[in-house]
Amino acid sequence: MKKGEPNSWQGSTQWRMISREAIRKWNAKRASLPKCGARRKRDGASCMQLAGENGRCYYHGLRTGKGAKYHVHILPNGDAPDFEAKLHRKLRQIERDKKAQAKRRAAMNPEQLAAHQRWHETHTPGPAAARANKRQDRQQAKELRQRIENDKPRPVSPELAELQAQVAALEERRAHYLRLAEEQHQPEDNGVFD
Ligand SMILES: [Zn+2]
Repeated sequence: MKKGEPNSWQGSTQWRMISREAIRKWNAKRASLPKCGARRKRDGASCMQLAGENGRCYYHGLRTGKGAKYHVHILPNGDAPDFEAKLHRKLRQIERDKKAQAKRRAAMNPEQLAAHQRWHETHTPGPAAARANKRQDRQQAKELRQRIENDKPRPVSPELAELQAQVAALEERRAHYLRLAEEQHQPEDNGVFD
């Protein structure tokens, strides 16, 4: 028997029955398990891989660390017997990732690049507290920008400006006539209240 080929037990009908039943059970269970909600590139629908506790699958952020390990490369355990080999593998992986990212960046149009930079500004690696501070700074800057924006005078169309000028002129004339009328009806005796 060659390596990788089924042995006589694995080739038996009973084995196949057991296997089929196990797969059927798993597929029935899989349908009810939570799925990843990330958008897949192929058609924009949800990814549908099995999701972990953060609602994302292995490919879409399940492995992204939390807190101080957020978006930080995790180096292998120093006590592991194959530590050096693992470390070298990891470092090579980091190097590959960097190159792949540079390539993606080079292919982006200005809009995509801006979005990419925004994402990186809001997803800095490292401790949660530092990220929370930055988030607060961004929020304050946003509020300040909005306040400045709201204080600006609104641009007025020429038609509206003309109407406003007419209204102002009419009010001016009305005030003038009211003053004239008041002067003509000035009471001669102010009575006990003077
Ligand atoms: Zn996914």
